[in-house]
Amino acid sequence: MFDIPEGMIYLNGNSLGPMPKAAPAAINSFLLDEWRTELVSGWNTKNWFMQTNTLGDRVGNLIGAAPGSTVVGDTLSIKVFQAVAAALALTPDRRIILSDSGNFPTDLYMVEGLMTLRDAGYVLRTPAPENVLDQITEEVATVMVTEIDYRSGRKHDMQAIISKAHSVGATVVWDLAHSIGALPVDVASTDADFAVGCTYKYLNAGPGAPAFIYVAPRLLDTVQPALSGWFGHEAPFAFDLDFRPMPGKIDRMRIGTPSIAAFSLLDAALNIWDHVDMKDLQKASIELSEAFIREIEARCSDLKLASPRDPNQRGSHVSFEFEHGYACMQALISEGVIGDFRSPNIMRFGITPLFLNLNDIKQAVVILEKILVTKAWAKPEFQKRALVT
Ligand SMILES: *Cc1c(COP(=O)(O)O)cnc(C)c1O
Repeated sequence: MFDIPEGMIYLNGNSLGPMPKAAPAAINSFLLDEWRTELVSGWNTKNWFMQTNTLGDRVGNLIGAAPGSTVVGDTLSIKVFQAVAAALALTPDRRIILSDSGNFPTDLYMVEGLMTLRDAGYVLRTPAPENVLDQITEEVATVMVTEIDYRSGRKHDMQAIISKAHSVGATVVWDLAHSIGALPVDVASTDADFAVGCTYKYLNAGPGAPAFIYVAPRLLDTVQPALSGWFGHEAPFAFDLDFRPMPGKIDRMRIGTPSIAAFSLLDAALNIWDHVDMKDLQKASIELSEAFIREIEARCSDLKLASPRDPNQRGSHVSFEFEHGYACMQALISEGVIGDFRSPNIMRFGITPLFLNLNDIKQAVVILEKILVTKAWAKPEFQKRALVT
């Protein structure tokens, strides 16, 4: 179902998923059968205006969200800002935002920007991930954490963090960037308050594909959209001069005109997910990951596992520390095995069962072993850092 170049072993679906075979026809159909023929009428005739919600429901379904509680659009950085701003407004007397030192930097940067903008004495705490639970106290306004650590793959205990936060009157914003499409998530049964994530990683909707935001249905009438765009208005086409959020609906978290071209690619990617059972997927991911770790530890003793050894404590990528990790990854890529590198010394491999099998995993390790044995990574061409690592 994916169009992956011949001979490539793609172990980076956790960063950018590969192109579904159905993607070219989907975007072509958007261009020729929608934009070209309908022009501005497409907002009605092709339902462009509500695709934030119809696609949002399909994305939400992958994380256990009830229909009407998820919308897509914008980028994940923006959705983080939106969710944290909305969460803070729910506990106006508190000033502590709790995250962790393993969080993806843009999440922390967006919160820093929000704190500067609010200028109300907010403090962002970033303890080590394993100390988050202990630091959830009655001072905390909101906890903002990423379930799966982008570097190590370590998994937070969603239920434990939510239960503790709720017991002290705090909320939690989950970043599910490395969870959605990687493992089962259930925002409803865990009683999550907010969740955000992107669709270009495990969901395979293409570079820059729209992000999503989930808000618990119990909060939909109270959350204040800090980014109050006209798509979130109660009556966008009344063109009122003041903002009134859409009452009781997730629509209030919409902002402005989304990319309908990008939505066509998301739609094509979601058609694949309609046939995937997340429990089966996780089982396959664990089998492949365990094989990958076993093979690397047997053949590549220079590499040290940087992910939790217990597969139930991991997401769907596996990381190894290696002093020459960057150069080694470049050497691997030159041989058609695509992973990535995260500073300072992490080689990261996405294990995505929709398009990888045991042969791919074993073959990748054979190539890696050869690079290590021959020290091919030491060649000058593998030392130069690219703009994107
Ligand atoms: C990938 C990722 C992002 C990326 O944010 P964009 O706005 O899409 O660039 C943010 N947060 C986390 C946790 C991620 O894994």
